[in-house]
Amino acid sequence: MVGDRIYHWHHGSAWTGAEGGRVADVFDPATGAVARQVPLASADEVDEVVAAAVAAASEWRSSSLTKRAKTLFAFRELIVRHTDEIAALITAEHGKVLDDARGEVARGLEVVEFACGIPHLLKGSHSESVSTGADSHSVRQPVGVAAGITPLNLKAKKNLWMLPIAVACGNAFVLKPSERDPSASVRLAELFTDAGLPDGVLSVLHGDHEAVDALLTNPSVGAVSFVGSTPIARHVFETAATSGKRVQALGGAKNHMVVLADADLDAAADAAVSAGYGSAGERCMAISVVVAADAIADELVAKIAERTRTLRVGAGTVEGSDLGPLITAAHRDRVAGYVDAGVEAGAELVVDGRDPEVPGGSGDGFFLGPCLFDRVDPSMSIYTDEIFGPVLCVVRTSSLADAVSLVNANPYGNGVALFTRDGAAARWFEAEVEVGMVGINVPLPVRVGFYSVGGR
Ligand code: NAD
Repeated sequence: MVGDRIYHWHHGSAWTGAEGGRVADVFDPATGAVARQVPLASADEVDEVVAAAVAAASEWRSSSLTKRAKTLFAFRELIVRHTDEIAALITAEHGKVLDDARGEVARGLEVVEFACGIPHLLKGSHSESVSTGADSHSVRQPVGVAAGITPLNLKAKKNLWMLPIAVACGNAFVLKPSERDPSASVRLAELFTDAGLPDGVLSVLHGDHEAVDALLTNPSVGAVSFVGSTPIARHVFETAATSGKRVQALGGAKNHMVVLADADLDAAADAAVSAGYGSAGERCMAISVVVAADAIADELVAKIAERTRTLRVGAGTVEGSDLGPLITAAHRDRVAGYVDAGVEAGAELVVDGRDPEVPGGSGDGFFLGPCLFDRVDPSMSIYTDEIFGPVLCVVRTSSLADAVSLVNANPYGNGVALFTRDGAAARWFEAEVEVGMVGINVPLPVRVGFYSVGGR
């Protein structure tokens, strides 16, 4: 869908939407130029798409499980064949480096592969003789139309968390991806249609709050799945629940990596750098805070700084770039503003990425280099707020118990990692830390496709 204009995907084909409707600019973050425009659906257009989805859902739910599985297998093959093309669309609009974009397609693919097993996954249960001469059984039924609202990062992965499962279960699905980088979502819908999915079962509708609110209040939408920032997650949860829908809403993150004195410091430093600055920190599973034991903090900060200084900032399409640009100029400025605030608050800026060197010049691209802060106090905004950029903070601590208290006092609870060689400490940490996804000696506890994801 790379061209001047991006389309909705409705009833198995590209759909321009109503004449004269609102549009938004989609940027190439590496140059700062407006690359194309995306239509923003009105509430009436949402209702039209949902009505078509209702009709498609009633036929799709009666399709055989083997037909649904075959469609998913075909979808899987098409994604594999078009991985580079999907990754290129992600990089063009999000900015992340191509390897990272390919990686997220691979992680999304795991969920498609999981959904291929739907004939087994949808088995119900049966009890004989629950009373004399009577049996009882339970079945899993589709809700009808489900809606998914996804964030700007991990375009392929987040969409593929939702749509293969919803569709495999016999639902129709309306996807409202982020309007900032919408093209990869449309390409996925095209491929699913090519795989044999009947028209109307999957729609991609672009839009902003107007489209989202119309989905959240449309009585024909039975379930809503949301991934994005915490304030919008709260709005989605409350509005959809008030409208009587099933709803799951995943919000923002501020993930910690705790490093104990006995840890392999080279492994911990490698992990902090890859998890802190990968995808320029625009990840819900980015590590934003390293909690370092006092005894090794100087050595660990030196190792992280040394590695951070070697990272190359550049366009996601340029071979050798480690960090691409941020999604918009406004976001880049917001992240740089946090770095300024951290300096003003008295944290020690060990690596300053505010004026990065970009090979070939950055033009007006939305680049920001990696920034490393040491001696961060938990009262500072660089610690309390989700920055969603390449800013890593080191907080020093005197004990594992203090580190866990710090993590548990933080309002976010998406992911956490611990580096230690002490099995008993690892076991205690896993039990006591109040975070959804816990990793030991791994950079990010990112789940695989056959496990669910969720913060606490
Ligand atoms: P966002 O909350 O701004 O947008 C997410 C979605 O909500 C988009 O589709 C957007 O169009 C829509 N939206 C935005 N404003 C709205 C409003 N006022 N009313 C209704 N809908 C609205 O998030 P983002 O900036 O696109 O993505 C980054 C955020 O997502 C970060 O906070 C990140 O931590 C979070 N995230 C969380 C997870 C997770 O698993 N918990 C995964 C990825 C991203």
